[in-house]
Amino acid sequence: MNKIVSRQFHNLLKSLTTHFSTWTPLAATFNSRPDHKLNLKIFKKDVGLFDVPQLDSYDGFFELKNECIFKTDLLTAEVTSNNRTRKIVEVFDELSDTLCKVADLAEFIRLAHPSKTYTDAAESASATISTIVERLNTDRALYSALNDVIQYGDKFPTNEFDDLMARLFLFDFEQSGIHLPENERNKVVTLNNALLQLGQQFVAACGNVRVVDKRNLSRDTENLFTTDGHNVIVSGLCSDTADSQTREMAYKIYLYPDMHQDALLTEILQKRHELAQICGFPTYSHRALKGSTVETPESVMEFLDTLSVGLTDRAAEDFTIMDHMKRRENIASSPLQVWDTAYFTKKAKQEIFDVHSTEYSAYFSLGSCMEGLNTLFTELYGISLVVKEIMPGECWSLDVYKIEVTHETEGLLGYIYCDFYERTGKLCQDCHFTIRGGKLLADGSYQHPIVVLMLNLPLPQWSSPTLLSPSMVDALFHEMGHAMHSMLARTRYQHVTGTRCSTDFAEVPSILMEYFCNDPRVLKTFARHFQTKQPMPDEMIQRLCASKNLFMASEMQMQLFYSALDQIYHGAHPLSGSTTDVLAEVQQKYYGVPYIENTAWQLRFSHLVGYGAKYYSYLVSRSLASCIWQNYFENDPLNRLQGNRLRHELLSFGGSKSPRNLVADFLQKELTNDLLVNSLITEIDSKQYQIDFLKNNKAVLKHEAKANRFKKDSIVKNTGIKKNKYAYCNIKRAYVAMKITKSCLNTILSEKKVCKTETKDLDDYVNSFEDSDSQSTIDSDLIRSDILDGSIISISDDSNCD
Ligand SMILES: [Zn+2]
Repeated sequence: MNKIVSRQFHNLLKSLTTHFSTWTPLAATFNSRPDHKLNLKIFKKDVGLFDVPQLDSYDGFFELKNECIFKTDLLTAEVTSNNRTRKIVEVFDELSDTLCKVADLAEFIRLAHPSKTYTDAAESASATISTIVERLNTDRALYSALNDVIQYGDKFPTNEFDDLMARLFLFDFEQSGIHLPENERNKVVTLNNALLQLGQQFVAACGNVRVVDKRNLSRDTENLFTTDGHNVIVSGLCSDTADSQTREMAYKIYLYPDMHQDALLTEILQKRHELAQICGFPTYSHRALKGSTVETPESVMEFLDTLSVGLTDRAAEDFTIMDHMKRRENIASSPLQVWDTAYFTKKAKQEIFDVHSTEYSAYFSLGSCMEGLNTLFTELYGISLVVKEIMPGECWSLDVYKIEVTHETEGLLGYIYCDFYERTGKLCQDCHFTIRGGKLLADGSYQHPIVVLMLNLPLPQWSSPTLLSPSMVDALFHEMGHAMHSMLARTRYQHVTGTRCSTDFAEVPSILMEYFCNDPRVLKTFARHFQTKQPMPDEMIQRLCASKNLFMASEMQMQLFYSALDQIYHGAHPLSGSTTDVLAEVQQKYYGVPYIENTAWQLRFSHLVGYGAKYYSYLVSRSLASCIWQNYFENDPLNRLQGNRLRHELLSFGGSKSPRNLVADFLQKELTNDLLVNSLITEIDSKQYQIDFLKNNKAVLKHEAKANRFKKDSIVKNTGIKKNKYAYCNIKRAYVAMKITKSCLNTILSEKKVCKTETKDLDDYVNSFEDSDSQSTIDSDLIRSDILDGSIISISDDSNCD
């Protein structure tokens, strides 16, 4: 899979990595505090939230709500009118747009606005719209008009997109049982209401702490946790803790079966099954998977089973390594257990590849990451991210940035509001919100999409911009993948625009962005030290990328186990036993580490409610993204031709085409389970090859890492140049590690006059360095600038430098 990087790409990298000595305006904006520029605007008039004039005050929600009600009445009358002058789906989409524009905006403000007057007004508007939607969903006249068009055709010519849209609207109606006889329809309504309540109760209790009477525990165990009077409090799995006894006890106490949660989960699963059967589906899973990429539960289970065969041995190898690590810590310890895997996965990343977040975050300022995204989008699509001035009253918080997404010839595509910084009371999840969906308007113009990306990054400090850990960089790229799905969609209808598509396709664009973000060639375009502006050294990039792929098989096997459990819970009923019996069976079959008696992990798994039979979506999206990456981008990640194909043949459709056909047409091959599984297994094997290579060359890697640390320390100390033997010794080390040629080094030193008096010593060292590697891989300009700004030569007390 790893083909040689094209010459063109090398040139691009060179230009991107060697000529950045200052930040671009985009990077500079994201590297500074956003609130400072607003002070001069106090005399200007508020434009209203999201530039919606009515929202210059919270009262505007009342106005928006009334306008929405008025327009909804006109549109519902149009649907059933004999004098309708356009396709029925056009009217339905305008109806949906009218409701969504107010509902989505109000829902976002309800969650995000720091002022209670605003959240209250938004909540009231949101509740009114929900009531209208419920009424419309049970409006039999609307349903019949749509059903007639589907049965007998519209009086205006329609195409395949119109027909799919009509079926999607009809399916929405049928979720409420509108097509059923009166008594069954009532049952559906009752079941839906009950499920809403039960689900909320189950999710709310998933994270509860476990309080245990001290007297039930041994004294040893008691001392491992926080205590409160007679009680011991266990608030989580403690999987980061180095002490294996603490992890074990935390696991057993925290996951001890809770009868109330068990009763809730059992009832949810039974009621879901009942609901599905009333609506004519064999199981809840059949109902949930209608219109998905994989289409049926049988196909999902076949995918999971085939993947399981491929993963078993590969995951077992991961567990063997973890088991060895555990025995190295304590020869007498028990074999690897389920409470150990997260701990040893993290430890291995640090031990084998020496990856520590703090070392990396200096190279990931928010500004450089945004610049990286901009470079990527420019190369792939000819699209730029342009920072726009925020007008007074436009945002809910002063620290939000607004980006205009613009194409080089097509102009404006949409807006992204970046609400990136943590603040009290803010939602702590990373999210993408659609505020306004894209849609072709009656006058032929396009309604530009508006989205919000919400992250929880630390605010910039006076001394440094916001610095991201590698996992935060992944999250930023992931969420930006969702945002660009919204920006690049060019659907006729807003009901199916951007991320409004099947769950098992919705994560494809965002996971694909993680592949870009973990590619060394892409990382090289933007990872630069926030102080020195130097690019991240190659060896650091290699270590980071390798560490992210470590134990990929075992992590994937865990996802597979969760997905299989979710499918079986939502499959045929009655289940073969209690939810815990099923968990034990499924874990035995699909996961390489055994189930622990008297634990019930499923009672803490809130995704069973939110995803309900769709948890497999992550694995399917991941394999589709992997397949796209391997076939079209792995060879050349910044290829415009493939970027344009991705944009026009995949992302532009949103959910307006059956996801199965969409993906098959894009990949130009039939979408089979073998294809999905093979792409994941191929990826694991190729990444494992890279990991083994780096592990076998660990000595080289460590040497390089040391040289790099030396360089970093010298920047931090910044104590000036002290020309002693040890400093030169370290220069030599740094260059040996960086494989720089002797002639290149001498050229550089001849320019650094201050060193000349000491070059005798240096020459001795340089001469002792056998330079046979004439293929210098490091840009001499970079080394030169390092030497000249003194960041390589500095004090070292390392007397063991030989
Ligand atoms: Zn996502």
